[in-house]
Amino acid sequence: MSLFSGLLHRRPRDLPCQQVVEIVTDYLEGALSAGERRRFEHHLAVCEHCTEYLAQIRETIRLTGRVTTEDLTPEMRTDLTDLYRRWRAEG
Ligand SMILES: [Zn+2]
Repeated sequence: MSLFSGLLHRRPRDLPCQQVVEIVTDYLEGALSAGERRRFEHHLAVCEHCTEYLAQIRETIRLTGRVTTEDLTPEMRTDLTDLYRRWRAEG
């Protein structure tokens, strides 16, 4: 089993990665409800890609003092978009 298919297998169904990407800034700002926060953290616990994504966001915040999804580099956005497209195609 490749690393990638291993990650696919572990991908949680209740909170899609795309949704994690959309709410990550809310998470960092403490704007999520308790339930949302719990699902978010559960997803991170099993999803290496989103864990890495969150680390990148945190680094961006450290460097700039703020972040929105618009602050992401085009490379980061492209990488994630390709990743999700592949997941959907293979899922
Ligand atoms: Zn994920």
